[in-house]
Amino acid sequence: MTSEHRPTIGFIGLGIMGRPMARNLLAAGYTVVVRDVVGAAVEALVAEGAGQGATPREVAERTDILITMLPDSPEVEAVYAGPDGALEAARQGWLAVDMSSISPTVARGLAERAAAAGAEMLDAPVSGGDKGAIAGTLSIMVGGSDAAYRRALPVLGALGKTIVHVGPSGAGQVAKVCNQVVVAVVIEAVSEALVLGAKAGVDPARIADVLQGGLAATKVLEMRRDNILGGHYDPGFRVRLHLKDLKNALELAREAGVVLPTTAQVEQLMQRMRIAGRGEYDHSGLVTVLEDLAGVRVCDAVEGPGAATAG
Ligand code: NAD
Repeated sequence: MTSEHRPTIGFIGLGIMGRPMARNLLAAGYTVVVRDVVGAAVEALVAEGAGQGATPREVAERTDILITMLPDSPEVEAVYAGPDGALEAARQGWLAVDMSSISPTVARGLAERAAAAGAEMLDAPVSGGDKGAIAGTLSIMVGGSDAAYRRALPVLGALGKTIVHVGPSGAGQVAKVCNQVVVAVVIEAVSEALVLGAKAGVDPARIADVLQGGLAATKVLEMRRDNILGGHYDPGFRVRLHLKDLKNALELAREAGVVLPTTAQVEQLMQRMRIAGRGEYDHSGLVTVLEDLAGVRVCDAVEGPGAATAG
């Protein structure tokens, strides 16, 4: 036993990302108190040893560090600043770490409110997807004070591998928005290439093999190959959440005086997915919009097994 105080952790938002993250904290030996609006998500974690809180305020009261992993800015605002919100329990020494991807402006506003109550708040959005959340290998981009960052670091170490303090409050969300611009545009580029190859009569699995050996290689194709070549789009990362990230990107660009012409076009293609009832698809399902326009299905053009290596 060491005399070092091990913080108790609150965790709110037990979806695709939050559930395995909370699990990893339990596996690392932390006492974890969870909450979600979906009862089944809470029950699953309680069965694995977590406690549960009835409201965000109660979770915050019972824990030293609160982590949130919620869909979007309105949910994060409701959990922190709504009725029975976590900030009602904010106090000297209490730390909140919002790991959701939300508007940098909202993140800064909540951090100011936490500071007014003597507490601290970090924005710490992630990349690495559900696979990274399960494996505990997320990339975490942190905005906030150095002292709060150093305090959160051991806990974040149970969730991720690359943890970067990118700057003051809101900076983590700015980095995340930049990340999401790259991912969206690369998914679109990979989709264009594979739809082109398929319609031009070449096996897209072989095109994918050869792309991955050269300058065109991308993590997107590595991680979403099976979805795109197999024509199945269970999330993963929901299109409606990526649309939210691109909205944040375009708003930030407007505020900062930047033009994002390609991001704006990809945002419109993702809107097309939402309108077509595909908002819950994985974002790799963006290929379906290009397929519709070209009148071809990439998965139908795959000839052999969609193996990851050329034979
Ligand atoms: P998700 O929709 O699967 O999970 C969100 C969870 O929050 C759900 O369980 C939902 O019930 C819960 N929730 C919603 N409102 C709530 C409230 N008021 N109180 C308590 N719980 C509430 O989403 P996800 O894929 O886990 O993503 C979470 C965040 O992480 C998003 O901001 C997303 O953009 C980001 N993100 C996701 C991925 C990914 O690959 N899925 C990768 C990186 C970042």
